Amino acid sequence: MEISSIKGVGPKTEKLLNKLEIYTTDDLVSYYPYKYNIYHFNEINDSNDTLIISSVIESAPNVSYIKRNFNRLSFRANANGRIFNVTIFNRAFMKNNLTIGKTITLIGKYEQKNNTFTASDIKFNIHNGDIESVYHVTNGINSNQINKLVASSLDSIEITDHIPKDYAETYKFMDKKESLFKIHLPKNTNDIKQAKIRLIYEELFEFAFKMNILKKASKKENGLVRSFDKDKVDLLIKSLPFTLTEDQLKAKDDILEDLLSKNRMNRLLLGDVGSGKTIVSVIAIYANYLSGYQTTLMAPTEILATQHYYSIKKTLDQFNVTTDIITGSMTKKEKEKIYERLEDGKIDLLIGTHSLLNENLKFHNLGLVITDEQHRFGVNQRGTLENKGIKPDTLYLSATPIPRTYAMTIYGDLDISMIKSKPQGRLPIITKVKKENELKEVLSKMLEEIKLGHQIYVVSPLVESSEESELKSVNFLKEKMDLAFKGLVRTEIIHGKLKQANKDAIMNDFKNNQIKILISTTVIEVGVDVSNASMIVIFDAERFGLATLHQLRGRVGRNSVQSYCYLVSDYEKERLSVMEESNDGFYISQKDFELRGHGDLFGTRQHGDMHFKIANLNNDYQILLQAQKDSNEYINSQEYRDNEYYNNLATSLDITN
Ligand code: ADP
Ligand code: MG
Repeated sequence: MEISSIKGVGPKTEKLLNKLEIYTTDDLVSYYPYKYNIYHFNEINDSNDTLIISSVIESAPNVSYIKRNFNRLSFRANANGRIFNVTIFNRAFMKNNLTIGKTITLIGKYEQKNNTFTASDIKFNIHNGDIESVYHVTNGINSNQINKLVASSLDSIEITDHIPKDYAETYKFMDKKESLFKIHLPKNTNDIKQAKIRLIYEELFEFAFKMNILKKASKKENGLVRSFDKDKVDLLIKSLPFTLTEDQLKAKDDILEDLLSKNRMNRLLLGDVGSGKTIVSVIAIYANYLSGYQTTLMAPTEILATQHYYSIKKTLDQFNVTTDIITGSMTKKEKEKIYERLEDGKIDLLIGTHSLLNENLKFHNLGLVITDEQHRFGVNQRGTLENKGIKPDTLYLSATPIPRTYAMTIYGDLDISMIKSKPQGRLPIITKVKKENELKEVLSKMLEEIKLGHQIYVVSPLVESSEESELKSVNFLKEKMDLAFKGLVRTEIIHGKLKQANKDAIMNDFKNNQIKILISTTVIEVGVDVSNASMIVIFDAERFGLATLHQLRGRVGRNSVQSYCYLVSDYEKERLSVMEESNDGFYISQKDFELRGHGDLFGTRQHGDMHFKIANLNNDYQILLQAQKDSNEYINSQEYRDNEYYNNLATSLDITN
């Protein structure tokens, strides 16, 4: 159901909820609290701990203005016969609500010396032991309002339970509706615990179900029969301007072996950002070409597809591989020309974005399908490209920062190669969190880098400034940079809404060092590789998950020069400081889990496979293992065929070849 069908959701609230990616009532009831405030009343005492005190107002509040935008409200209160002063800052607006005789809950610290309680918050209608759900919010809507909307939709909508009956019985799970009530409106901590386990199990069961269906479909099928001259592959490797790392060589061996074996390749190449996955895939492309087949390489953004096109073409042209690209912004005519040449076998390697999935696009003899940044695509898309060939080999590249055991569980249907170490001579990127008012320092560091002949990325979450938000947009930042550098260095803006030709021209000029400062949204987040860029400055950095920040930071530090990452933000110092501590994607993702307890861990957004609403693979690994076992049993029992939901889910995976 549309979210607007809920009582109390008008157009304004709807817009705010959309911002939180809540569009339907299902989205709303599965928008879970990320933490709970539990109110256990304390006795008043002098300690450094934050206390929660139930008390009665004794005197009318008094407001004094210290500065503009800074006021103090004070009154006397009585807790079990003990009278003390209460002070709270910037709550002048509460004055009329604080009437003598009213019972309130004070949160803050008490100091015996002057018998004063300095409150950080004052609450009404709280009883001892009450639990309050806390949600991630956006300006204009608070946790309390979200909680109320959830409560009213839970009363009025139908909820479907996705745990098959047998398993729900085995584990004595409460039903779905009850668990939703308990997770949003818990009476005690036990409610939360039980509801959580059940909801996590449900989410992981569904996820494991999909993975198991894929795994079954991909089981050791016969693949293409092929042969190629390994010496020729070695010649390509020798022609490179660097020597491959040990992990790269191992991955290459895994892949060549897969290609030669009679089984179909279904391999995931995992490696942290900057570890050098592209070149390994280029070797695979060449081996596939030598054995007489076409390759296709799919990337999630046009910028990345275009970059791959130029760089891979440069490497493979001298080996007679004909490379081409197809993008969404090409004209119909241009596309048709590609379709024709492709079907005639005149293109050996076709690079592109989603436009590769177009049904009019047919290969002459597709032998290898490569997906870059695989975590950006849903599992549902896996089949489509592969169906364009007769059992082609498949290779997925991903920077998903997870340990091998997790990867094996999550990507149960794939073999895995890992690149653990970066190419030699890479220095850790020096990362600093800076406040808005320290911008001068950032600018002078930028100047230093420019003087050294290096280039810089400046990143903002927004394209245009809007009235409701204080975030700095790319347009705003360009003005700021041009002012700071007196227009002496060329700066340009890039973002997703630009025309493809403009994007290409800008990326090309940046690559050729004609643009010194590239001001961008997160369109450059994945894959972009300009090794002369040595600094990235990310504004309003608190807006990004750590996984995204790690990917963005990975745009620099791509050669042996010292690189820098500056995160500009006045907020979330603790979380952002994780970036200062480490350059290790695994470590950062673990911390992200711990600090936020949920997450965009894999930087997948809503598109990828692994966007969990409540499960946390770090803590819930055991549940995942169980869910995997159960869902596998369920699939084998064929019972899922009677369950409309799971039957559709299986069909949607499109693994019919
Ligand atoms: P990612 O794994 O993030 O996709 P890339 O494949 O884009 O990383 O590689 C990052 C950079 O490192 C590229 O400029 C690439 O040419 C370079 N590179 C790859 N392998 C090596 C190596 N063995 N030695 C030195 N540089 C390398
Ligand atoms: Mg890459």
